Amino acid sequence: MSQDPWFADGVRFDCTSCGRCCRRTGVVAFLDDDVTRAASHLGLTEDAFRAKHLEHQDGHWFVDVYVEHPCHFLSTEGLCTIHEAKPLQCSSYPFWPELFEEMNAWDAEQTYCEGINQGTLRPLDEILDRMIE
Ligand code: SF4
Ligand code: SF4
Repeated sequence: MSQDPWFADGVRFDCTSCGRCCRRTGVVAFLDDDVTRAASHLGLTEDAFRAKHLEHQDGHWFVDVYVEHPCHFLSTEGLCTIHEAKPLQCSSYPFWPELFEEMNAWDAEQTYCEGINQGTLRPLDEILDRMIE
């Protein structure tokens, strides 16, 4: 008999737009669909968008981010300048599968994201809808 996941009763989350996830050391991956969407949003061809905005390694396209060098799509006001077309990695955060493997992982992510365990109760179906594989 399968057991309910630990988040069967939902989790609380509301984004405060603090922008911290846009300053976190790592990479912001742009999959092909992300490139198509963001390039169209900015009125660029996909090639021009890649050349102007992305780095490339081992077949992957991405923006490099570290604390002193936030994602370059982050405005000085702390807002995403491609919000309507931001990549799946960003639009799905923090509903990432690895953060739902154990409650500890979700809770620990509060160190990086102040919206976790705050605000609106997100039911199981919404969590599964927003989760990327
Ligand atoms: S760190 Fe969390 S609360 Fe802050 S902008 Fe990112 S998702 Fe929103
Ligand atoms: S694309 Fe937008 S939401 Fe994603 S890290 Fe960059 S500024 Fe933040």
